[in-house]
Order: sequence, then structure tokens, then C-alpha cells
Amino acid sequence: MRFRLSFSYVYFLCFIIVMFLTSPTHAETKKISVVASFSIIGDLVQQVGGDHVGITMIVGPEEDAHVYQPSPADARKITQAEIIFINGLGFEGWLSRLINATKSKGTVVDLSSKIKARQTQGEIDPHVWQDVNNVKIYIQEICQALIAIDPNNGADYQKNSQLYIEKLSKLDNEIVESLTNIPLDDRRVVSTHDAFGYFSARYGVAFLAPQGVSTEAEASARDIARIIDAAKAQKVKAVFLENVADPRLARRISAETNARLGGTLYSDSLTGAKGDGATYLEMMRHNVKEIVRALKP
Ligand SMILES: [Zn+2]
Repeated sequence: MRFRLSFSYVYFLCFIIVMFLTSPTHAETKKISVVASFSIIGDLVQQVGGDHVGITMIVGPEEDAHVYQPSPADARKITQAEIIFINGLGFEGWLSRLINATKSKGTVVDLSSKIKARQTQGEIDPHVWQDVNNVKIYIQEICQALIAIDPNNGADYQKNSQLYIEKLSKLDNEIVESLTNIPLDDRRVVSTHDAFGYFSARYGVAFLAPQGVSTEAEASARDIARIIDAAKAQKVKAVFLENVADPRLARRISAETNARLGGTLYSDSLTGAKGDGATYLEMMRHNVKEIVRALKP
């Protein structure tokens, strides 16, 4: 009897200890509430923040940030955020109005603020992520911003950033390597909008595009005719679709130039979890695979 009583007592004590350790205040530390303006930034913040961040995206996978129309639900996300990561350079031009309207107290971090932006036809090109080395700068910015708001987990943010930057270096080498067998004269393609300027500058593939650096303005008949002429004159080998652009334009240019219709490039957005561009690293590997497939001799 005495044994049974003490056994129950020990059992009860264990129960209390387990309850205490697994109570929400001890088992789950509060995550930092983060808003990422679009899917690629969402992935990058996840890589650095790991379990310490709870991320909400405004423009999700397969959605076009250039023409996105924010909803009241987006305003609520911004109001609740402690930190808001944006691409800047006019990519999400509607976002600063939304942030101002919500009177958000969250810290706004403009990831491209230290990047020397490319200009094309008098416009700033916001598609900075198409050069893998620029993303290393994004990662450093994300790391510093998270440390500033949550210094206790600073070591984790630094470790995650370092590991991810190593992956980016590997990816950058891989891209250079996989294009080496394609003669420079053959590295000419058409995309729908002008999203690959940074990719061109870094990896030596020339892109022509009927639409400018934003998908906001439709390509005019004159723009399309100009690209068709240029594609013929330069003997462009492939025309690519994009996951955020109208596929009809690429099909038409391909038909009128005899350049083959390549696959779909992921220009401004990741795919959903089941797609083959669900992360930034996968997205870039997919794009390069499609380009090499279309251009190989
Ligand atoms: Zn774009």
C-alpha cells in the first residue's frame, strides 16, 4: 500500500513536470511575425530565420507582383507584422501605399537598398535576384534585420546565412558551368517581359523581350514587331514562356520567327510546393536547365 502511494505520488510529480515543460510558454517561444512581399523573399527569409520566424506572404507563388492588387486581408497581415521585407526598386510599387495606409509599426527592410540597380530604357530593373550573387546581399540584409529584432537567436541567423550563402556560391558555379558548352553566339533568347537583365549580365545569355521591366504595360504591336525583327536578324534559337506572363505572346513570336518554343522560365515568382521551382535554388536550377535544353547544339 505504502509503495503504491509513493508510486502514485512520483507519477503525479512527473505529470506536473511534463505539463510544465510542454506548456506553451516553455515549449514554444514566440515566433517573429514576418511579412515577405513576394514568394522569393518568403523563401529567403525562411532560410535565414528557420523556426524563429512565422512568415506571411503578400504575393504568393505563381502570382505576379507587378500587377498585384492588395486585399483587406493583406492590410491585416501588414498591421500584425513586426518586420516587413520588400524587394524595392519599384517592384512592388503598391506596397508602400499599403504600409502607410495601415500605419504599421513593423520595421520595413528594403533588401535591394545596397544593390547597384541596372537601368534599361530609362527604367530601373528590379529583378535583382536573377544574379545569384545579388541574393547573397539579400541574405546578409535579412540576417542583420533579424538579429536587430531578435538578438538572442543571432547565432542561429548567422549560421543559417553562412550555410545558405555557401549554397548560393555552389549554384552560381553550377550555372556558369552548365552554360560553358553553349557557344556565345547561340546564347540569344526571347522572354515575354524584360526580367533577365541581371541574369544576362552575369551569365552571358542575351534576352530580348517585347514587354519592359514590368508586366503592367502590355506590349504594343510595334514592340512585338521590333522583337520579331530582332529575333530573326540575330537568329535567336528559343522563345520562353514565363510563369507570370501571358503565354500567347511567346507562342506568337516563336511561330513568326521559327525560334523553338522553350519551356517556362520562373521569372518573378516561385512555383507552389508541388512544382519544380518551390524554392529559389530550385527555381534557378529549373531556369538554367530549360535554357540549356533549348540552346544546346
Ligand atoms: Zn518582372
